[in-house]
Amino acid sequence: MQTVTDINYVARVHVNGYAWRDNKLVPHVPDDEVKERCPFDGRPGLFLEFAQLPIDRDEILSFAAEYGQLRDPFHARFDLVRRLPKDKRLFDSFDLWKMHIGAMRDLVALWQASQLPTDDTVLRDLIKWNYREGIDPTDEGDADMPRFNRIPVHPSCRRFLKKDDYRVAALLTIEQEVRDTSPGSVKTVLKFDPEHKRLVKTHEPTTLDGALWLQFTQAIDRDKRFQSCRSCREPIDISDDGSRVDREYCDDACRQRESRRRRKVAKQMREEGQYLRTIAKRFDVDIGTVKGWVGKV
Ligand SMILES: [Zn+2]
Repeated sequence: MQTVTDINYVARVHVNGYAWRDNKLVPHVPDDEVKERCPFDGRPGLFLEFAQLPIDRDEILSFAAEYGQLRDPFHARFDLVRRLPKDKRLFDSFDLWKMHIGAMRDLVALWQASQLPTDDTVLRDLIKWNYREGIDPTDEGDADMPRFNRIPVHPSCRRFLKKDDYRVAALLTIEQEVRDTSPGSVKTVLKFDPEHKRLVKTHEPTTLDGALWLQFTQAIDRDKRFQSCRSCREPIDISDDGSRVDREYCDDACRQRESRRRRKVAKQMREEGQYLRTIAKRFDVDIGTVKGWVGKV
């Protein structure tokens, strides 16, 4: 079975990072060295990091410095092949980043709320219902509200909608929005599997935004569940079929880092005269554990 990380995307990241020029995200130093990396290997929740990215020019630059441009001109060279006029070619505008981050954030919220089948209170906050039309398409709402409050469900989908079925409304909205927003720059290709000596089907996005949307759709398809690592806050796959036994940390390094941090804070608290009981409560452990941490202090 393919895993959710099975996305064949090679990012080309400029070593000197990126800058905004004429509202375009471009390499800071035009012809500098480029490093290749596979950002989706071992990171089933990269789309979640993207969804949580603040829509701010500097924050976007720091994301790009790690994963490259959404529309790397190298990957997007098929636009040249297709002889598109210059203004129609792919490039990273601030609006492009803003559109993808905003859409991903809204839809992730909607999807995660739809994963709680017995509790639709979160969905009720996210979706505004219009009894005649399904989801209200006309309400202009508050600018800060998630945009799917204002998204009409496609007429062909309305027949699936029953009054107050928030979960179906959410799924239909996600279906429609992903179709409209994902850039469609994903090829299906074959890849040699050295372990089994055979060719397997894999997906090869030609742009980073295509890769991020692909990973989101795979996570939905496989009903993935995530939680943040207690140390580095990176999303970890906690689905039933997830291969990680440890569900609180990414790996041993993160577990150890968090353990060192707790010991340090516990020792500090003890030196400041806090009760063992207070420290144990703070870290949700028993008093014996805290004694072990703080030693003879
Ligand atoms: Zn971690």
